[in-house]
Amino acid sequence: MRDELERLIKREGADIFGTSCVSGFVSERFAGLPFAVTIGMRLLDAVMDQVCGGPTKLYFHHYRTANAFLDMCALKCALLLQRSGFRAVAIPASQTTSAEGIAADFPHKTAANLAGLGFMGKSGLFISADYGPRVRLATVLTDCPLPNGQMMPPQCGSCRVCVQACPCGAIVGNAWRQNGSRDDIVDAALCSRFMKDTYGMIGRGSVCGICAAVCPVGRHI
Ligand code: SF4
Ligand code: SF4
Repeated sequence: MRDELERLIKREGADIFGTSCVSGFVSERFAGLPFAVTIGMRLLDAVMDQVCGGPTKLYFHHYRTANAFLDMCALKCALLLQRSGFRAVAIPASQTTSAEGIAADFPHKTAANLAGLGFMGKSGLFISADYGPRVRLATVLTDCPLPNGQMMPPQCGSCRVCVQACPCGAIVGNAWRQNGSRDDIVDAALCSRFMKDTYGMIGRGSVCGICAAVCPVGRHI
């Protein structure tokens, strides 16, 4: 099944594919779906390079288009699993569902990390081994048994580029730890408030992207 899923995802044009067991990371309502398919798209460098000083309208459009593309790939993947006799749910590429509006239904980066596709950066972003944080992700949760990859430990080392570039100081600067709190890494509420207050004219303040754009992993200029 894994090979069939990978063929589908690559045929659709996605850049990243991986599988993992996320049992213990899914909420109660997805408890019967302990395996994950990670699908990812590399963002366009020509768009991302313009975001180092702050988000652009082009970036916001690109971000939304990438999410729509990934949602479609994830839907096709979930349908293939269902046709093959399994249960599957496509988790949206971008969706906030917590009371504070800053957490998603399921963290895509957890599945991607467990799949061995990259590591968690000081920025709190998933850093793809191939493309750095210049990626968008989606996840399909399923009861189809799928293999884990080799989880990648943090590889930021002494780099602090994102810490210094964040305009509101939301990135604490600590290395990510598996069972650590998100607050040890990034002040998500401060980041969210800053985006709303500062970049309200772009996607009503829902994107920034500076920490993703400046990361040396995945930068090609
Ligand atoms: S998205 Fe912007 S404000 Fe938020 S942590 Fe990254 S650089 Fe800072
Ligand atoms: S900018 Fe440096 S510290 Fe921040 S996530 Fe990238 S490699 Fe890690």
